[in-house]
Amino acid sequence: MKDLGHWVLRTSQDVKFEVVETTGLLDPANPLLGQVPGMSGIHGTRLAVLDEAVDSLFGSRVREYFGSTATPVSYMTLPAGDENKTIENVLRVASRLKEIGTERAGTPPIALGGGVVQDVVGMASALYRRGIPYVRVPTTLLGQIDGSVSAKNGVNFEGCRNRLGTFHPPPLTLIDRAFIATLPERQVRSGMGEVLKMALIKDGELFRLLEEFGPVLVQERLQDTGPLTRDRKPGREVMHRAITGMAEELEKNLWEKDLRRIVDYGHTFSPAVEMGSLPGVLHGEAVAMGCLFCAALALNRGLLSQSEYDRIAQCIHQIGLRPTHEMFFDPEFLERALADTLRHRGGAQHLALLTGIGSTVFVEDLSDSEITSASQMMRKL
Ligand code: NAD
Repeated sequence: MKDLGHWVLRTSQDVKFEVVETTGLLDPANPLLGQVPGMSGIHGTRLAVLDEAVDSLFGSRVREYFGSTATPVSYMTLPAGDENKTIENVLRVASRLKEIGTERAGTPPIALGGGVVQDVVGMASALYRRGIPYVRVPTTLLGQIDGSVSAKNGVNFEGCRNRLGTFHPPPLTLIDRAFIATLPERQVRSGMGEVLKMALIKDGELFRLLEEFGPVLVQERLQDTGPLTRDRKPGREVMHRAITGMAEELEKNLWEKDLRRIVDYGHTFSPAVEMGSLPGVLHGEAVAMGCLFCAALALNRGLLSQSEYDRIAQCIHQIGLRPTHEMFFDPEFLERALADTLRHRGGAQHLALLTGIGSTVFVEDLSDSEITSASQMMRKL
């Protein structure tokens, strides 16, 4: 053995990526959309991938924008919805990147759409030439407050959520709240499910804003256009608080070396419900139910007070989200969901439970009987 070599390579990577809020993103006077992060000019054709709904609502303005910049852009559209978050769609994007001659750095593709299109284009960019930069323009509430600061992408595979995916943050994400103005109300409510999660795990003031303004935020699609909101701008504040909270949590554990993540609150049982009902329950809808189920677990353990539990249930109701689903009535299904999540958390439960509104603790010893009790509470809702 003494003649055999042994090499150890150790390196680290300094990662910086920016999320920039703007207004009038599609106004040709706003240079942000045409920017190539880290480069001074364009070297070839860029691919713009548009969510089908975004294409029909904003496609002509996007084309006008790039027409006015003289940037060569090739366009493709993709269907949204989790049933379309597939490896086949990743490969469709990769084929287009190859067809138009996308370079390693100078022609980053642009993804305009919700979380699904962001994930598909993000994964294609991660795989193409072993990783090219891309620009993210999230157009849904969920995409703007959650996906926008994430380093991850992924597609659903063989009935499992995000089973294939990579870590590949884009250097630039552009947020324009005006996109939310055209979002169907149900999608706004779904996005509010993730806002609620952020509030519950670390931001009591955000929760208070949801309690005070929840219905009007949904109705106005966070545009702060009505008499109640014009001056106080709760839409802007809710959005900023949610993004800030998410960014704080992700930055300290971007590669998820620590599998105890409070941002996974409400995401332990919900993936099975979401995938089991596809396309019946939207992501944020399932998360809100998962949040309430975990609040019930915390209540039964004496971690959370009855009044706090009631406020959470009431807030979900006010936002117009369904508090429960028949899959939460089946303890054995929930035990299987927990077992599957355990495989994602290194074999440990690492289950975040609330100790109040805005604070959490991790538990590792959740029992089947606790799941059964909380499941019975979900049935009664
Ligand atoms: P989605 O992408 O399916 O979009 C929801 C619907 O809104 C679609 O019908 C879409 O066509 C439409 N739409 C998009 N923008 C619109 C606009 N401005 N006006 C009108 N309609 C518009 O769903 P989503 O809720 O945005 O995202 C959910 C997905 O995001 C899930 O798959 C989730 O896993 C993923 N996600 C990923 C991360 C991550 O870290 N990578 C984070 C959060 C969510």
